[in-house]
Amino acid sequence: MNSSINSRTLFQAALLQSLILGHYEGSVEVKELKGQGDFGIGTFDSLDGELIMCRGKVYQVNGRGEVKEAHDRWKVPFADVFFFETDRTLPLKDISSLNELREKADDLIQGWGPNYFYGIRIHGVFDKVYARSERAQQKPYRRLDEVMKKDQVEFHFDHTEGTLIGLYCPSFMDGLNMPGYHFHYLSDGRKEGGHVFDLCLKEGKAEFCLLSDLKLKLPRSSNFGRIDFTENLVEAVKKVEG
Ligand SMILES: [Zn+2]
Repeated sequence: MNSSINSRTLFQAALLQSLILGHYEGSVEVKELKGQGDFGIGTFDSLDGELIMCRGKVYQVNGRGEVKEAHDRWKVPFADVFFFETDRTLPLKDISSLNELREKADDLIQGWGPNYFYGIRIHGVFDKVYARSERAQQKPYRRLDEVMKKDQVEFHFDHTEGTLIGLYCPSFMDGLNMPGYHFHYLSDGRKEGGHVFDLCLKEGKAEFCLLSDLKLKLPRSSNFGRIDFTENLVEAVKKVEG
C-alpha cells in the first residue's frame, strides 16, 4: 500500500444506526446524492423502499416490488454513494450463495487492505436472487428491527440478469454503518431489485473500487442531534441488514 492509492470518497448520509433506531425522515435529496456518486445503496423517506443508484440513476424498489426511477426531490434518510472507477476485476462463475460471494470478495480485499471502503459492482447472470424491500412507515416510527418483523416484503427472482451494487465497510465502522458487505440488486430490465439476502450467480464479473475517504453528512435536525446512540446496536444491525 502506498501513495499510488487514488483518493476517492464514500459519501454517507446519516448513520445506519439512526435508521435502526427509527429515524426515517429524509435529510438529503436524490439530486444531492447524484452530485456525490453514480453508484450506491440506501432507502427513502419514511422507509419507502430500497434505493439503488446505478450508472448515475436512482431507483426505488417499493414494498410491492415495483421498480421506479426516483424523483430528484425525493428525500433520503440513509445512503452510501460513490463515483465508481474500476481498480480490479474478478471473474465469477457458479457462485452458489451470498456467503460464497463474500468469501471470494474477501480473498481479494483481505490482501488488498480490509481497512478501506470498497465499492463493488457485479454484473452477471443469476439463477436466483433472493431480495427484500419494505412497506413505507407512518409516524410515530418504530425501530427498524420491529418494522422488519411485519413490513418486510421478500422477492425471489429466477433467471435474471443484472447488477449487484455493493459496499464493503471495515470493522471499525460498527458505530456508523455495518462492517462487511451490503448488496442491492437491480435487473437490466429495471423490473426486479431490492436488498439482497442470498443469490446464485451463474456467471459474472465483479469490479472493485477502493475508497479511502469518508464524507459523512449528518441530518441537521434537533431530532437527530438528540438521538441516544449509547445502546450497542451491533446485533440489531446484523439482524436487519446481514
Ligand atoms: Zn440494504
